[in-house]
Amino acid sequence: MQVITTVREMQHASIAFKKTRSLGLVPTMGALHAGHLSLVQRALADCDAVAASIFVNPTQFAAGEDYETYPRTFDNDCAKLEAAGVSLLFAPIAAEMYPAGAATFVEVADLSNRLDGASRPGHFRGVATIVAKLFNIVAPDRAYFGQKDAAQVAVLRAMVRDLNLPIQLIACPIVREPDGLAMSSRNRYLSPDQRRRALILHHSLHAADKLLRSGETCAEALRIAMLDIFAAEPSIRIDYAAIVDPATLLPVADTTHGALLAVAAWVGSTRLIDNLLIEPSSAATPIEAAHA
Ligand code: AMP
Repeated sequence: MQVITTVREMQHASIAFKKTRSLGLVPTMGALHAGHLSLVQRALADCDAVAASIFVNPTQFAAGEDYETYPRTFDNDCAKLEAAGVSLLFAPIAAEMYPAGAATFVEVADLSNRLDGASRPGHFRGVATIVAKLFNIVAPDRAYFGQKDAAQVAVLRAMVRDLNLPIQLIACPIVREPDGLAMSSRNRYLSPDQRRRALILHHSLHAADKLLRSGETCAEALRIAMLDIFAAEPSIRIDYAAIVDPATLLPVADTTHGALLAVAAWVGSTRLIDNLLIEPSSAATPIEAAHA
């Protein structure tokens, strides 16, 4: 695996690779877990070669968020990516991506203010900007993102469409711990007690899923089922529990035509998210499979 830290070198390496091979990109902020590696595996299945990036992007963190304390485990991450079969790792420092005077941002209007964007102002502007830059620098044929960050997927799909970027964006399923907790780099912030209580996000989605399976399609009924689960754990502060269209992130009244059940909550000072994507006229969901 070639580890590259400068934009110029990465652009050259990509050009050399793409002469003969298709290239997939897996952008990450490091502190890698099996969720990240599932994106690499999917990229390897689709593409001749895979590039990953590790960059804790300062512009997507608001003041007071965890930019400084975000887990940085570079050597460990390198070993995991190399073992997984990644050919190129782009790992720039912040000054390489945002040199003095950098003044251009990408903003996907409206969508960027919904779900996580509503409680994290500026977050998706930072995400869209860094991903647009990575797309220009790495120039992959395909780029892989986790459905775990469902609002991010919606924002980035809109960006690719609106800017006519010649890149196929592929969303991959959420990878969970054996007990159902969605894997996240931030799970390592949790104390053992918080880790146990964090399962409530998954349980709330599971409760809604069960209701769906019994034939309920009214979004508000599903949302109430989710909120009821949270009511049993008052120490956890809900940010949102929403049932929305997965592309527009606007609330839907009914799930018949598909929907995204999304939840975000504070467990202590750690903000966690999880979601469940309901296909139109829902078949078996990953949550049901996990509980079979
Ligand atoms: P991050 O390092 O948190 O920015 O995540 C990098 C990529 O990994 C994003 O596309 C995430 O959506 C994806 N990802 C994070 N956690 C998971 C998970 N549990 N399952 C699948 N993909 C994930």
